Amino acid sequence: MNKGRLYVFSGPSGVGKDTVLSLLLSRSDLTKSVSATTRAPREGETDGVDYYFVTKEQFETLIREGGMLEYTVYAGNYYGTPKAPVEAWLSEGKDVILKIEVDGGAQIKTLMPESIGIFILPPSKEELERRLRMRGTDSEEAVQKRLAAALNELSCAERYDYRVVNDDLDLCVDEILAILKKNKKKSR
Ligand code: ADP
Ligand code: 5GP
Repeated sequence: MNKGRLYVFSGPSGVGKDTVLSLLLSRSDLTKSVSATTRAPREGETDGVDYYFVTKEQFETLIREGGMLEYTVYAGNYYGTPKAPVEAWLSEGKDVILKIEVDGGAQIKTLMPESIGIFILPPSKEELERRLRMRGTDSEEAVQKRLAAALNELSCAERYDYRVVNDDLDLCVDEILAILKKNKKKSR
């Protein structure tokens, strides 16, 4: 059976990744990997759907047992991709998408060079800060941490196979759908 394709989906916090991804998932046959994290759930987030919310001890056990495809520490918390489900989906021929930050993205590219990286860019830094604050789920301290991380993330955009600006939401999703189509056509 053909192996599925692995997509890495990154971009600075607040750029609109979740918004774009939920539309993208409704308009494609991508399977989204659910990450594990040690950060606290935000209002409206569900364990096992948005993330697997685990303790630091549980996360470190998973690392020790080789259960993480990649992982990183971001804004003071662990985030990582559980390995087993991704490997199973790919071997079933499913196309999988990981919504992860740039350090994890670099780990995946080294591990699986055939993976396809898509980086979401904001229309401007001012608009990025506006969206980050508009979300209103983080404290001022967390916003500042995320802004600093965002500037670092933007400098990594060039490492990705594709860069897409999230200005008009529908256009952004259309552009990503075109990328998926193009990569489906390529022989495996
Ligand atoms: P991320 O997952 O990258 O942290 P979110 O999807 O949570 O970002 O989006 C952050 C904020 O920006 C949300 O309030 C969302 O509604 C808004 N947003 C997302 N995409 C757009 C867009 N194209 N135009 C205007 N606002 C947007
Ligand atoms: P948030 O706390 O806003 O949900 O996520 C913070 C950052 O962690 C985002 O850039 C998100 O894409 C990233 N992230 C989420 N899951 C993972 C993961 O499994 N691995 C890595 N490396 N980053 C992740």
